[in-house]
Amino acid sequence: MKTIACILVEQGKPVVVDEVEMPSLAFGQVLVRIKATGICGKQLDEHIGTRGHDPYLPHLMGHEAAGVVEGVGEGVTRVKIGDHVVASWMKGSGINAPTPTYLWNGKKINAGNITTFQRHSIISENRLSSIPHDIPFDDAALLGCAIPTGMGIVINQAKAGPGDTLAVFGAGGIGLSAINAASLVSAGMIIAIDMVEEKLQMAKRFGATHVINAQKTDPVEAIKQLTKGAGVDFSICTIGKAKPMEQAYDSAHQSKGSVILAAVPGEKICLDPYPMNSGRKISGSHGGDTVIDRDIPKYVSLYQAGKIKTKDLISNRFKIEEINKIFESLKKGEISGRAIIEF
Ligand SMILES: [Zn+2]
Repeated sequence: MKTIACILVEQGKPVVVDEVEMPSLAFGQVLVRIKATGICGKQLDEHIGTRGHDPYLPHLMGHEAAGVVEGVGEGVTRVKIGDHVVASWMKGSGINAPTPTYLWNGKKINAGNITTFQRHSIISENRLSSIPHDIPFDDAALLGCAIPTGMGIVINQAKAGPGDTLAVFGAGGIGLSAINAASLVSAGMIIAIDMVEEKLQMAKRFGATHVINAQKTDPVEAIKQLTKGAGVDFSICTIGKAKPMEQAYDSAHQSKGSVILAAVPGEKICLDPYPMNSGRKISGSHGGDTVIDRDIPKYVSLYQAGKIKTKDLISNRFKIEEINKIFESLKKGEISGRAIIEF
């Protein structure tokens, strides 16, 4: 069986969109017809080569999607044919299947336990969660990474509650989901920081009580002013650059502030360790500590109750053939929310 897929052949070079030959299903693998997939910073990093040499080239791409199960390999119990599923890079229960090897003009192409920038994909069953049939695929795709990561940072990691103050640096897919969650847990002050006015307006619709354009105003000063000199309880950075990460650190409360860095920078950061002696904490984020068996059903019910603003999160819709255009737009910062590819 053949399918159309995005193939990353060389870092920094245009991604190739072409037909690849799919292998037959092995133990624990599932054949999914992808209906929608989100594009996140991880794939842009892979494309640019932010994290250096990529030993898996050439390989397929993508790690959040929604689709329909069209085939199951031996041993699969988590999903069945006909199920609508969310596909996520985060591991759930079930078999961790071997990674599939596709063929492109007779040449081997690598793929991870999940790849999604392709019409059909072979995915390990532990990366799939069944969802109700009435959830649109475009909305469901974002349950694979952006929403659980953003919401998980606030709910699972920060454990923010009523009245807490938060600063969220970066109003993209993950930042907006964090703001959405902060609003759901009745946080007090929710401050969004970005350099793009359109994104800040979007942040307001997701529940930000205050917005700061870092292009015009020093966010650290502005946050200190808003919090009467104290700094915020939780300072979250979703931008993979040193400056906003350092600003996020400096914006947290001296002794009870907690800083969560949810993006991987390609550069080193410079921090004053002194506040850590008084109690300021700093941590990274691995998908917002999401446990998909527990959290995806939770987000599905929030979605069904109209409490997750998924439609607003999707800012751009593309066809698979436009993949290089998407990466160009992402590099230029032209994508205000989440870009998705629809099949
Ligand atoms: Zn992602």
